[in-house]
Amino acid sequence: MLKNNYHTHTSRCHHAVDEDEAYVLEAIRAGIETLGFSDHIPFLNGPESRIRMDISEMNGYLESIRYLRDKYADQIRILVGFEAEYIDDEIPFYQSLLNENKVDYLIFGNHLYEGYETSSQRIENAAQLQQYVDRAIAGMKSGLFQYLAHPDLFMVNIKDFDENCVKAAEQLCQAALDLDMPIEFNCEGLRDHLNGHIFKNGTTLAYPHPQFWKIAAKMKNKVILGADAHASTAVNDEAIKEAIRQTKEFNLNMIDHLEI
Ligand SMILES: [Zn+2]
Ligand SMILES: [Zn+2]
Repeated sequence: MLKNNYHTHTSRCHHAVDEDEAYVLEAIRAGIETLGFSDHIPFLNGPESRIRMDISEMNGYLESIRYLRDKYADQIRILVGFEAEYIDDEIPFYQSLLNENKVDYLIFGNHLYEGYETSSQRIENAAQLQQYVDRAIAGMKSGLFQYLAHPDLFMVNIKDFDENCVKAAEQLCQAALDLDMPIEFNCEGLRDHLNGHIFKNGTTLAYPHPQFWKIAAKMKNKVILGADAHASTAVNDEAIKEAIRQTKEFNLNMIDHLEI
């Protein structure tokens, strides 16, 4: 069981299901202590996006989670935040969300390696991979985020963990170490793997990638598990059990909560 999970989506992102309350009830049933909602952040200035809520839905999201936080306050600790990319034009928006206490926290999902129109799931060459790494490091340095989600997301469209991937992993892990920032072992990628999902790289393996996590283990990075739940059952499922088993097998330096 994942005692504290800070990576939970809602149906507003168009690729998650279930009512907000269903996630909370499932988490209470499982005995989870902290459930952090971190749905995909809307763009304030970006193009229309099929994988995130519209900006007009943001207040409803925040109100819904705060309502649930109060309703179940004696049974579970609920936090509200976002999973956000590091996009120059959106940074003032993120800062205002944090400064005005509209959210409790942000996690960093580096889904766009360079601007709104790029996708970290479509990285095709070493130059794009380096852009992904540079953007990840810039975002980590910004101080906006609690942790870097699925640092090995770049493997979605890459079949072999070659020397460029080793270099990328070492750069990401070193930056996280220097900043004392946790990196996330992501259960959604593992869930896809266990379900036999074929990634863009033509295999069922993308992230969490064993080669990446062997490097993180060697470098002694702080690692946190994230359910990355896109359904209420995913706050406590087989993927989480398997993730816990793998993190032990890799001998990762796990932390089990954030100071929020
Ligand atoms: Zn998602
Ligand atoms: Zn993500």
